[in-house]
Amino acid sequence: QAKEAGRGGYRFFATEMNQRLQERRALEADLRQALASGGFRLAFQPQINLEDKRIIGAEALLRWDRPGHGNMPPDQFIGVAEETGLIGPIGAWAINEACRQAMLWPAHMNIAVNVSPVQFRQAGLFECVTSALQASGLSPARLELEITESVLLNDTEDTLAMLGRLRGLGVKIAMDDFGTGYSSLGYLQKFPFDKLKIDRSFVRDLGRDPNASAIVSAVVGMSRALGVRANAEGVEEQDQAALLLAEGCEEVQGYFFGKPMSAEEFSVLLH
Ligand code: C2E
Ligand code: MG
Ligand code: MG
Ligand code: MG
Repeated sequence: QAKEAGRGGYRFFATEMNQRLQERRALEADLRQALASGGFRLAFQPQINLEDKRIIGAEALLRWDRPGHGNMPPDQFIGVAEETGLIGPIGAWAINEACRQAMLWPAHMNIAVNVSPVQFRQAGLFECVTSALQASGLSPARLELEITESVLLNDTEDTLAMLGRLRGLGVKIAMDDFGTGYSSLGYLQKFPFDKLKIDRSFVRDLGRDPNASAIVSAVVGMSRALGVRANAEGVEEQDQAALLLAEGCEEVQGYFFGKPMSAEEFSVLLH
């Protein structure tokens, strides 16, 4: 009886494994196809200077209308793109496209692009950034690269050196999803970030959960003391914006101010 169930369980497990493997292969093939045929687009979410509520730029977010699946959010395909190395060319496309679009906006508008930890460790990121700047003619000061704490987990010396080279170009470096990673705060002492983006999990509970409010308050205070700009992600309500302003948070992003939108929609918003 137990043996039977065990064998059945094994068979079931093997089938499921097989199915998963097939799904991954299909996803990888579709990603390659999208790369080759221009299947990706970028959405742009406004970044707002909280004091005067002016748009100061946008974050570029990858969008993919996967054939037969509809819109597939980046969280569902970036993992496989990282495992297969496809994140290199996909990320390079995103950086190039983001710079190209930003050139169509007024000269004081900035553009932020996410860089995956795997993409960061691959050879060629520096060359990718310089060539995107050159091809578009975008001023480096208008480009911001968003990295996560996991970038800083290994090879800290090499990582800091690479961040220094990028920053040496005049490009800005933002720490994304701040407070959700496993890194120590030590890196804040070792590298001069331009921006800390407070993760939306803390912003969501602002004003409801005293712990979340305490954390946001502490992060804003710390960034001010460090001379780093603070951006609060995922602001969905007026009250959250008011609390953030009272705390002295410089910058916000979120559905309350604007959802990610097409390049055309963003251009219209600017005019
Ligand atoms: P992220 O960089 O932290 O981007 C913010 C995410 O929060 C975006 O999801 C955005 O649509 C969403 N968001 C913004 N405001 C609000 C809000 O008020 N409420 C809620 N509930 N959500 C909000 P999205 O576009 O699905 O992207 C998810 C993640 O995928 C990004 O997180 C980023 O880590 C990654 N990603 C997106 N585009 C790229 C890319 O071009 N390259 C790389 N390497 N990663 C990317
Ligand atoms: Mg981001
Ligand atoms: Mg984030
Ligand atoms: Mg994220």
